[in-house]
Order: sequence, then structure tokens, then C-alpha cells
Amino acid sequence: SRSLAESDPEVFASIVRELDRQKDQIELIASENIVSRAVLEAQGSVLTNKYAEGYPGRRYYGGCEFVDVSESLAIERAKELFDCAYVNVQPHSGAQANGAVFMALLKPGDTILGMSLAAGGHLTHGAPPAQSGKWFNAVQYGVTPDTHQIDYDEVARLAKEHRPKLIIAGGSAYPRVIDFKRFREIADEVGAFLMVDMAHFAGLVAAGVHPSPLPHAHVVTSTTHKTLRGPRGGIVLSNDLDLGKKINSAVFPGLQGGPLMHVIAAKAVALGEALRPEFKTYATAVRDNAQVLSRVLIENGLDIVSGGTDTHVVLVDLRPKKLTGRDAEASLERAGMTCNKNGIPFDPEKPMVTSGVRLGTPAGTTRGFGVAEFEQIGHMIGAVLDGLASPGDNGAAEAAAREKVADLCRKFPIYGGH
Ligand code: PLP
Repeated sequence: SRSLAESDPEVFASIVRELDRQKDQIELIASENIVSRAVLEAQGSVLTNKYAEGYPGRRYYGGCEFVDVSESLAIERAKELFDCAYVNVQPHSGAQANGAVFMALLKPGDTILGMSLAAGGHLTHGAPPAQSGKWFNAVQYGVTPDTHQIDYDEVARLAKEHRPKLIIAGGSAYPRVIDFKRFREIADEVGAFLMVDMAHFAGLVAAGVHPSPLPHAHVVTSTTHKTLRGPRGGIVLSNDLDLGKKINSAVFPGLQGGPLMHVIAAKAVALGEALRPEFKTYATAVRDNAQVLSRVLIENGLDIVSGGTDTHVVLVDLRPKKLTGRDAEASLERAGMTCNKNGIPFDPEKPMVTSGVRLGTPAGTTRGFGVAEFEQIGHMIGAVLDGLASPGDNGAAEAAAREKVADLCRKFPIYGGH
């Protein structure tokens, strides 16, 4: 049959242009990464043709012997990587992984306690517009105004007051290590399950450069495409095999039909990569680079939420320069650096405007950027934002940064360079 370029030039062109965009800009979105060719190859494989409802060895379709190998490899590698007894690699996304846990543990109307979106939590943790917020009695905790770290006393107080069935720890814009032990103590006090959503920092846990939630949580969920550097997807882990049975039934047939076997094969490849020693070097660099970026941005007159980072996330408070997240995101994009506007704790601006941008080092570190490059990037961001804040600049700082971005991207090519 014909190639994509021949059979569908419009879609082909959009992919080529996206590839060029990824090659030629600096990716600073904290939830993104750049997967290996091996991961791409597995995900773009004929496994997409296969129906395999059920689990390895227990399928509702014939012809599953080869996809079983990929799924079993993914499961075994995840167990080894995270040192746990139970894994489900079938959730189509992080949101689906969380939904499956809710289906296994909760009934509509039950009370859950999660971090608010405004403080850095995720939509699936009980935010009002999400299913988790609509179908459950969702109570939300936040961070303290002074440290911007989780207010554990508030978590304990809310838990005692509302007696949730499930407490959720983890977030999308929280740069600090979470005290999983404290969360478990709070959960035990009120007889709640503890779920940790490690979507953002799973790669750091895998590499041993961040504490693991597995010794403390009843169940852990994650995405596979952020710091873990795999295909887009979700995963559920636990040390409780009985709970695992319930979660298996919740993923399929509870929430999903046929698993995406091509994505599961790509998850296996990424988990295999994460087991190699190079991945520890990578994850260490991700964290070191984030600390350098945070320090240089402070030197450039910006505030960093919580004063720094323990992870790959740097949440920038733009108020010292009187800029909004919306304007800063657009200006940095014109300068060749992609990031997202993000609310900061107690943000006075609306969610479509915000006072912050969220930055992250996973993708740049995959390109090969080290502390020298992230120091340079920090100064480039500082210069672009100073230009944006100054009435006479007219885009000169953006243009100057754009040239430096082009140099860095040429020096650290991805997917075979130009
Ligand atoms: N959980 C957390 C903490 C996340 O940050 C995200 C994604 O941003 C998700 C879950 C949802 O993952 P997905 O976008 O794959 O549904």
C-alpha cells in the first residue's frame, strides 16, 4: 500500500511540520518529553491492528500470543523498575488510570480529598469541571501561603472533618517532594485509601532520584509519557494483589474495551530503557538542570513558587516583572521556547491569563542539554521577559533569543537533525 506522503499529503505535511517544530524549538513544557526511535517504532507498529480484551493468557480474542509477550514484558519491567507486586499497563491515559482506581474503590457520591487545581493538583483529583468533581463529593486541599508547600495540617483537618474514602496526593504543577508517609498516616487515621498520582515525577522515582510512593500508598497511578519518557498512556501500580484484582476489573471491562497493544509495546520499550543505567544519569540531570534553571531565573529577578524545586518542574511567578502567564507564554514561543501559562498558588489572575508559567527540563535534557545549556536558557528567558516588560523593545529580545535557540537546537539535534 502507499506511503502516508503519497496517500494523505495533508496529514503527512502536518506531521512533517510538527517534527520540524520539535527539532527547531526548545521544549520547556514540564509534562512533555522526546521519546526514542525505538518507542516510536513500537507505537507505529502493526500491533495497532490487534484486539486483545482481557489480560495476557486470559483474552477474549484469538491470535493474542504475540501481543501477550509485549504486555507481559511491560508488566514485568514496571514491577522491577518500581519494585512492586502488581501492575496494569492498559489505561489509555493518566486520566483513565485515575478513573479506573475510582471505579475500583468508590461509588458515585463518595467523598474524595485531593489537591486543588489552583494549588497545583490535576483535574482528575476532584476539580469541579471534571468527572471526579461532578460524580464524587470532592473536597480539596491546598498549599500554605508562605512556603507554597502542601498544608499537611489542613489535609489532616479536612480528612477528619469529611472522612473521605480516598485521599489523593500528587499534582501537575507541584515542584516539591511530597511527604507520602505523612499522607498515609492521615489516611490511616480516617480509614481512607491513599492514592499517589506520580504522573509527573515517575521517571525520577524510576531512577531513584526521588522518593517512591509505593511503600506508602495503597495504589499508585502514573502517565508513561512525562519524565518516564514513554508513549502517551497510563499505568496503575500497587503492592496489594487483592486490590490489583479489583483494579484489573475496573480497567477492563469496567472502563475500557480493547487495550492499545501498540502503545503497550511502546510502554514496554520505554520501561526497558528506564531500567538501564543511562536513565539514572538522565533523571539526575533532569533534576540538576531544573535547579540551575530555577537559580538563574531568580538571578534574573523572577520569583519561583516555593523558592526552588526538588523535581523537573519550575513554576515561575511573573509578578515581579508585572507580566501575565498568557503574555509570557506567547513571547517565549515567538522566541523559540515552548512552555505553558500556569496559575500560581493564590493567583489573582483568571485561569486563561494567570501570573505564572510552568517550565520543565525533561525534554531539553533528553536532547542533551546540561547545566551550561540550562543556565543559558535561564538567561535567555530572563532577557525575553525583560524585553516584554519594557515598552521600547519591539521584539528585539525575542529575535536575539531566537538565534540562540537555533544555535542550541543545531548543536543538540533530535531525530536525525536537519
Ligand atoms: N495526573 C497528573 C498528575 C497529570 O499531570 C496528568 C496530565 O497532565 C494526568 C494525570 C492525566 O494524564 P493524561 O493527560 O494522560 O490523561
